[in-house]
Amino acid sequence: MSSAILENISLASSPLLPVVGNDLKAPLIHGASVRYANLDYAASAPAVEDVAAHLAQILPYYASVHRGAGFASQVSTSVYENARHIVANFLGARPDDTVIFTRNTTDSLNLLAGCVQTLLESNSNANGEVLYLDIEHHANLLPWQALPHRSVVAGDTIAATLSRVETQLRAGNVVLLAITGASNVTGEVLPVAEFSALAHKYGARIVVDAAQLAPHRRIDIAASGIDYVAFSGHKLYAPFGAGVLVGRSDWLDTGKPHLAGGGAVKDVRMESVLWTQGPARHEAGSPNVLGAATLARAAQVLGALDANQWHDHEQQLRSHLVSGLQELDGVTVHQLFTDSDAYAECGSIGVVNFSIAGYDAGLVAAYLSAEHGVGVRDGKFCAHPALRRLGLASGSLRASFGLGSRLEDAQRLIDGVGALLRNGL
Ligand code: PLP
Repeated sequence: MSSAILENISLASSPLLPVVGNDLKAPLIHGASVRYANLDYAASAPAVEDVAAHLAQILPYYASVHRGAGFASQVSTSVYENARHIVANFLGARPDDTVIFTRNTTDSLNLLAGCVQTLLESNSNANGEVLYLDIEHHANLLPWQALPHRSVVAGDTIAATLSRVETQLRAGNVVLLAITGASNVTGEVLPVAEFSALAHKYGARIVVDAAQLAPHRRIDIAASGIDYVAFSGHKLYAPFGAGVLVGRSDWLDTGKPHLAGGGAVKDVRMESVLWTQGPARHEAGSPNVLGAATLARAAQVLGALDANQWHDHEQQLRSHLVSGLQELDGVTVHQLFTDSDAYAECGSIGVVNFSIAGYDAGLVAAYLSAEHGVGVRDGKFCAHPALRRLGLASGSLRASFGLGSRLEDAQRLIDGVGALLRNGL
């Protein structure tokens, strides 16, 4: 074996960073148990240990934010506000960008859609439309589908998609282009900087759904010309319950407040309200301090990773899994674009979508869990149009991994599928 291959194997053989729960035992159907092979990171990634430790550190100061004069409230408030600065740094935000903490990516995109709706209600933008791709997660599709004018673009290659997006932009009425940074179905990465440049050339803005991109690739919103970005803490190696929307403040400061309630106002009379500006406009109610602080800590952890090691660890696992699955008769690995491997620096993140001829995806996922202790996701991944386009309207299987994954996890999946093909269900 060449030394390059040995080196590769050693990088993928261990987690890149320790994550909580990496030694969980999963019960098997016949009574024994085995180390759980978690191949479902794209749904929710396990917290990295450093983030869990940070949570324990700040928990004693857990108190009301922005509303109390007491010591714990002051600490909580500064932890919460500091989390905004950390997230802004992590994303390379412009000085006047706004960082709004939300519940998750879905919440962030709905918040932005509310602001876009306000914009479209003004006379000068009454015919404005939002443009998005047919491969989007429902979180980046349904909020736009609810607006009066929108267009959808589809393409079998990234090059064709860019060209069709340009045709739509040239038509003149697009105010916002909404695209995913990486597909949650196949893991393919999109050239967001190219989409941004196109949007700006025609006077539109761009929002990137980075729910899958942020946990796998560095994002620099100023350098890439991204106007808005959204992602979730629970996919970024932090606990559930917090997400962010970051971007240009003008639409956010004039848009409909996301939630009506305490903290979002300057003045309230019995018949009227004066809404505040800045992040508080959209963060009514007691905020999720622990969620924001752990999301920010995860961002710091990712920001400190060696980018080459991070990339290599993931790509070694991915190529091992893809080639192992492709060697099995009857297994097909799916892609949305025929040119994503070759297109600029796109490639794919640690997500592999596959199906097995003659086998129902749900039954295979249940078998892999019960017989092999492997956790994968099956179904339509909240992206029904994308699945339909792939000819997989009844669903497929998705294996996904990240910082805590090791070669053994990928191999266990390959072995499990091999055993299924030999022995049947
Ligand atoms: N966008 C993409 C690409 C996703 O993968 C997901 C979740 O799977 C979402 C949006 C929604 O994320 P959340 O459920 O955290 O709101």
